Amino acid sequence: MARFAIGGFQHETNTFAPVKASFRDFEMADGWPGLTRDDAMLSAFEGINLPIAGFLVQARKQGHDLLPTLWCSASPSAEVETEAYERIVGELLQRIGALGKIDGIYLDLHGAMVTEQHQDGEGELLERLRKQVGPDLPVVVSLDLHANITARMVQHASALVVCRTYPHVDLAESGEASAIVLERLAGKGPHYKAMRRTDFLVPLTSQCTLIEPASGIYRAVAEAERGDAVSTSFAFGFPPADIVECGPAIVAYGTSQRAADEAADRLLALVNDKERAFAGKIWQPGDAVAYARAKGNSASNPIVLADTQDNPGAGGTSDTVGLLRALIDGRAEGAVFANLCDPKSAEAAHRAGVGAQITLALGGWAGGAGNTPYQGTFAVEAIGDGNFLATGPFYRGNRMQLGPMAVLKKDGVRVVLCSRKQQCADQAMLRHVGIEPRKQKILALKSSVHFRADFQPIAEEILIVAAPGANPVDNRELPYKRIRKGIRLMPLAEPFGG
Ligand SMILES: [Zn+2]
Repeated sequence: MARFAIGGFQHETNTFAPVKASFRDFEMADGWPGLTRDDAMLSAFEGINLPIAGFLVQARKQGHDLLPTLWCSASPSAEVETEAYERIVGELLQRIGALGKIDGIYLDLHGAMVTEQHQDGEGELLERLRKQVGPDLPVVVSLDLHANITARMVQHASALVVCRTYPHVDLAESGEASAIVLERLAGKGPHYKAMRRTDFLVPLTSQCTLIEPASGIYRAVAEAERGDAVSTSFAFGFPPADIVECGPAIVAYGTSQRAADEAADRLLALVNDKERAFAGKIWQPGDAVAYARAKGNSASNPIVLADTQDNPGAGGTSDTVGLLRALIDGRAEGAVFANLCDPKSAEAAHRAGVGAQITLALGGWAGGAGNTPYQGTFAVEAIGDGNFLATGPFYRGNRMQLGPMAVLKKDGVRVVLCSRKQQCADQAMLRHVGIEPRKQKILALKSSVHFRADFQPIAEEILIVAAPGANPVDNRELPYKRIRKGIRLMPLAEPFGG
């Protein structure tokens, strides 16, 4: 039986977003638990799809003594404020230091944290930890698939373990895998490391592991773990982070340097080989609607249009109507546009009541490039209070509270309105207001990838559409300054910086 310290500190930083993460953001609960300390950590994560939850299950099975410190996370946003970072890292290191003799450390980190002072929040944390505990203590870290892995993180962690699905349905499993690696390191001693990175970024919409080429790559990552290659990982990285080491990376660990190098080289060659396949087609709204209308006549399932640039899960305001305009102008009867976050219009629909006709300026309240409201008269077809249980694989079991909801209809096109923004990644969001998703001709959804968990099984075809929004699908539209010269911001693009 070994004594393992456990902790966690998660943030995914979009350096182009407007609002930073404060200590309060880490302290409060959101979709996940709030700042959790001491023994509360041993029960707070039970049954949740989080790496630390999986780690606890597996390490208990192994019979180890688990010593909790602290765990916290905050929603994706701009940089972590220095005050929050120093306070949390300081307390984490102090608590680890107070544990006396330990045999290893497990940390549940994201891997794409940028702070006001540090481009590499996790690398800075791991370097400080390494100084404190010495060069030999095993430190194993689980990371999100969107981690921007840095050389410093690889240097100071004994092993990094990355989850393998997007939508991330295996976070808990990546914690279990981390426990196995940590036990091995504590028993059999250190192993050898290799790190490789690609020379191109992959847009979020091409990272989905339900489709090729990502599904095949992650199969190969799993298969690479055999013989002397003890643990292999691939992270796609998080493109909207203007840091030197942004982008996809591979880490491999072996019982010999050769085994680690060979596994890493093989995986890098595979990923490089797929560069062309990552350059997926991006549709303009009008073209997508025309295609979906033509195809929809012979299809038995809906054509799904992903309104990815206004995805609230990646910083979108969820109020842009560019794709809605294309649906109405294109006379796409039987289309549903969801979810448009517009509390004022939802309230107006509730006041008018089902069956009424209302004239309003729909969406477009947040401003920004190309974001203007849709002026028109709509019929109020349904209303809902926005309280319902999610049923799809991604949000399953979550009690959704989207505020007043409504369905408006114009020229055969329906708009689902909500009052709190939430990525449209669950069929229950539509059923709550009386729409059966499978029976629609076209579903236009404000989401990039997570919608696929619930909607791909009922989709005839999925098109990625570039309508107005704060989350450009083409990374070349982001004003990078610090990212390394020579990297291709999109697959097959010209190198950055000339
Ligand atoms: Zn992620």
